[in-house]
Amino acid sequence: MGFGGPHAGYMAVRKGLERQLPGRLVGVSQDADGNPGYRLALQTREQHIRREKATSNICTAQVLLAVMASMYAVYHGPVGLRRIAQQVHGRADLVASQLRDLGLTVVHDAFFDTVRVTGLDAEAAFARLREAGYTPHLVNGETLQVSVDETTTAHNAVEIAYFLSGAEEHSIGLLDGHTAPVLPATLERTSDFLTHPTFHSYHSETAMMRYLKRLADLDYALDRGMIPLGSCTMKLNAATEMAAVTWPEFANLHPFAPEGDAEGYLSMIGDLETWLADITGYDTVSLQPNAGSQGELAGLLAIRGYHRSRGDVHRDVCLIPASAHGTNAASAVLAGMRVVVVACDAAGNVDVADLRAKIEANSAELAALMITYPSTHGVYEHEIVAITDAVHDAGGQVYIDGANLNALVGYGRFGDVGGDVSHLNLHKTFCIPHGGGGPGVGPVAAKAHLAEFLPGAGGRDPLANPVSAAPYGSASILPITWAYVRMMGSEGLREATAAAVLSANYVAARLREAFPVLYTGDGGLVAHECILDIRPLKAATGITVDDVAKRLVDYGFHSPTMSFPVAGTLMVEPTESEDLGEIDRFVEAMLAIRAEADAVAAGEWPAGDNPLANAPHTARSVIEGEWSHPYSREVAVYPVPGLIRHKYWPAVRRIDQAWGDRNLACACPPPEAFA
Ligand SMILES: *Cc1c(COP(=O)(O)O)cnc(C)c1O
Repeated sequence: MGFGGPHAGYMAVRKGLERQLPGRLVGVSQDADGNPGYRLALQTREQHIRREKATSNICTAQVLLAVMASMYAVYHGPVGLRRIAQQVHGRADLVASQLRDLGLTVVHDAFFDTVRVTGLDAEAAFARLREAGYTPHLVNGETLQVSVDETTTAHNAVEIAYFLSGAEEHSIGLLDGHTAPVLPATLERTSDFLTHPTFHSYHSETAMMRYLKRLADLDYALDRGMIPLGSCTMKLNAATEMAAVTWPEFANLHPFAPEGDAEGYLSMIGDLETWLADITGYDTVSLQPNAGSQGELAGLLAIRGYHRSRGDVHRDVCLIPASAHGTNAASAVLAGMRVVVVACDAAGNVDVADLRAKIEANSAELAALMITYPSTHGVYEHEIVAITDAVHDAGGQVYIDGANLNALVGYGRFGDVGGDVSHLNLHKTFCIPHGGGGPGVGPVAAKAHLAEFLPGAGGRDPLANPVSAAPYGSASILPITWAYVRMMGSEGLREATAAAVLSANYVAARLREAFPVLYTGDGGLVAHECILDIRPLKAATGITVDDVAKRLVDYGFHSPTMSFPVAGTLMVEPTESEDLGEIDRFVEAMLAIRAEADAVAAGEWPAGDNPLANAPHTARSVIEGEWSHPYSREVAVYPVPGLIRHKYWPAVRRIDQAWGDRNLACACPPPEAFA
């Protein structure tokens, strides 16, 4: 429960609507050898490709929670799930039959896990149950309901009935006559479900543990090496920061627990709001949004609310630079705005002349500028103050996308450069792990004039302007950020920013001769990430950005961000968490890959058959059959000696992207289907 979140929601549609579904779909495709491999499917409907025409603004989702839920199904299988459901219903039925025996009125004849009772002093019953440690739901003065689950024992069921009724005698004897309940036949499911072999294979703890370990071994995670994904900030998630998530005091609190039960949470939330306001230079913070994208929506809705409150109902144009993250445009459309794109100049900055022209052309309808600082091109915009002034002069509000705060914490504040509202990504800058896609927290922070339009209306009303069903969103992962900020202190946070920016500049400086750095600011410097341009390499050698990204897997690295925000480039963000040894290992891998590309250009290896074009190499691909390639097996899988003892073996070869989109299937057929 975690005081309301994080939690996963699912949506299912009939065939034919999948291309319109919001959120991320995992689908099966084939690799270069025809073996199955999973990938994110139907990417062409997503915000990073379709921008304002995307089917949703979702980027970070709730993947970890979806994995937990699916593993519950794997462990129990269809038989186990049915048994659990029957047990839960049996307990609810026991509560109901006890209550009827005690002379109370149970409202429904058919129910699953929730029993509603009426015709009693519900407030007194509520107090008795709370006193005994149960959490009922008070419907009104004379109606109350209680829910049970698979942890509710028969003893609990009797106790619930006893405290609920206020009976004098606590009679366990009532249990004797209770028989297994029968659900109405019309509600019984008769068709099969969870038929895939995975749901029938791992029902012992040992088998389950090994299954999970096997899946984890397929992954390239931060516990193996660097994940240099730009615009993602994959930093260390220290065990000390994470420990509190498991404490029952945080994990088991109901989302609408009375204030008295949530003192710890509320004091932690108060601390975080204060700290984040201080870090960003804003007056108010709402922790309710569950991801950056949701923070964007909340912030833009606040801007709309502000304009409307002043009678400016016609202000609905949102200016967004071409360099922006795809979520920005998708969020603006969700908030009911029209997107007007502003050009960028050759250095990657917002083209101020074009901005002024677009402001001029739309001044009567200008709602907002949505700008990322430092930009998604990885540079600080030196004109930021002139830009925000120009928007304000035309009556617009300034939204600064704060997902790149790792380049700024302790050195600069959005509130001081003209921002009215921003979201932050606690799952990037503030240590909540987000590998695989969430959960996250995307707090929205604003100047005082927007406070009443934010979720929680500046803290006074947790249910005002909601963007999430729980007042504090994904509350139970906030201890991670709290611990990070508390342990780092202001000096530590400043040092982290400095180290992150230094590391990105080190990578840029060491690699720029082999791979030009696309955008730089003063003195050739970048912010916390750098974009390596692979297009010149392609022109000179035929080697593509895909080849470089996949070859990095053979060298034991996760790929940097590919073709975003500029096609044909790699965006590298080392963060402060990587030490010089690991950064050097990455730089040297990139330089070795450059040398391999040069060898292809020099004709040493043919264009269609070389270690880059064939990357990544699985163990099976170098063992099976005759080796017919013009390079050795050693070059394929051990291109540098350090890999011999520390090899990450990829599970699949290069995936056929288009095949997976054309043949959308969410689960692999059983292994026999693939020889
Ligand atoms: C990650 C990111 C977002 C989106 O945040 P989510 O939490 O993934 O929704 C928005 N803008 C920028 C610049 C980002 O890097």
